[in-house]
Amino acid sequence: MAARLASRTTFTITVLDSDRAPEMPDDTLQLRTTSLNSAAVKLLQDAGVMIHLSSHFLTDFNRLEAGSRDAPSALSFSADDIDLDRFGVFVENERLRHALWQTLTAMPQVTLISESRLSSLQRHDDHVDGLLDDGRALESRLIIGADGARSQVRHLAGISSHQRDYAQEAMIINVRLAESAGHTTWQIFTPSGPVALLPLHDRQASLIWYDSPGQVQKRMSMDDDALRLAIIEAFPARLGRIEAIIERGRFPIRRLHAQRYAGKRVALIGDAAHVIHPMAGQGINLGLADVVALADALEQESDPGNGHALSRYQRRQWPRNAAMLTGVEQLHHLFTLPFAPLRSLAERGLKGAERMSPVKRFMMSMATGQPLTTGKDHSRHDTRE
Ligand SMILES: Cc1cc2nc3c(=O)[nH]c(=O)nc-3n(C[C@H](O)[C@H](O)[C@H](O)COP(=O)(O)OP(=O)(O)OC[C@H]3O[C@@H](n4cnc5c(N)ncnc54)[C@H](O)[C@@H]3O)c2cc1C
Repeated sequence: MAARLASRTTFTITVLDSDRAPEMPDDTLQLRTTSLNSAAVKLLQDAGVMIHLSSHFLTDFNRLEAGSRDAPSALSFSADDIDLDRFGVFVENERLRHALWQTLTAMPQVTLISESRLSSLQRHDDHVDGLLDDGRALESRLIIGADGARSQVRHLAGISSHQRDYAQEAMIINVRLAESAGHTTWQIFTPSGPVALLPLHDRQASLIWYDSPGQVQKRMSMDDDALRLAIIEAFPARLGRIEAIIERGRFPIRRLHAQRYAGKRVALIGDAAHVIHPMAGQGINLGLADVVALADALEQESDPGNGHALSRYQRRQWPRNAAMLTGVEQLHHLFTLPFAPLRSLAERGLKGAERMSPVKRFMMSMATGQPLTTGKDHSRHDTRE
């Protein structure tokens, strides 16, 4: 958000991060990886971030496949079908964070403050006063909450949210394979949750295994040999031979949608505004689409906290994200049912090249970052308090 605004406006921007400033990761594979769709890559290119990411650590993906154990490629999409070279790239989160930090460090309009939290805010008609936990005070026209699912900004602004716990966790297992996984990412749905592969650099891959917290705990405590056997049993044969298990980790899964993305002199973006089931690989992509929408709304304003501009952002982005959250929720329900419905749906989804089925259209939207259109007017979600 800061890089986008700094590259297109004269606003002065302060970025607060409760975390430490990132250090340049070495060549070792980092635990967490993200897919960036083509719209997200374009935003990062325009904001000058991509030049700080070595292409060696970016893995293109140009094919998406989803299905069941019996029909592993029931739904499959190629970037070629829509005249693209690739749908997007996989990148390790820490490398992206480091690249963002480097970009911002070189921007004279931006002040970076790490290891510091916003602890309170007081909103006035023409400005907002923020207090940091080290006692420092900040006065600004607008505070943008990009502070994740447990957003303090959302809390301090009194913006409520709908939340749901899926009673599911994502276990990430990074592996080195005997053969490169190429440029296809796939996902196999099972009644207890999907298993997925994200191809990475140097014959490495990230396996994502969604299951109940109890099952995840069991696998977290297995030694490498036992875990490898469990993977062979649960993942399709196309995974190939695993040479080594590099690292594993677990993450709870939930859904959250803030009732509003904006209030007086406050806006929310990213996970602070919405948390989506990661099976769709959309969290960061939706957050970066928020960045484009909010920057578009603010760019022409002399006062970035202008209520009309914030309302424009909300009207554009809330319904788009609501459609995506609902779509992923429906996929989750659909695919955790027994398999007969999945098969018939997948078959229907593949039929008819002219008229794209809703599932195919939805998955294309996820892959490319083109918003789903709902056809509904959601302008009632204004920013009045
Ligand atoms: C297992 C898993 C796999 C995923 N895979 C994908 C994927 O493939 N593609 C994808 O697009 N998304 C994916 N996601 C989702 C993605 O990780 C999140 O959507 C994304 O990290 C959200 O980014 P964010 O910057 O909004 O929030 P966060 O990443 O949570 O960052 C919030 C930042 O705010 C800082 N902060 C917090 N509180 C304060 C405070 N009070 N003051 C100052 N700073 C504060 C934190 O230090 C942090 O730097 C996945 C998620 C999971 C769990």
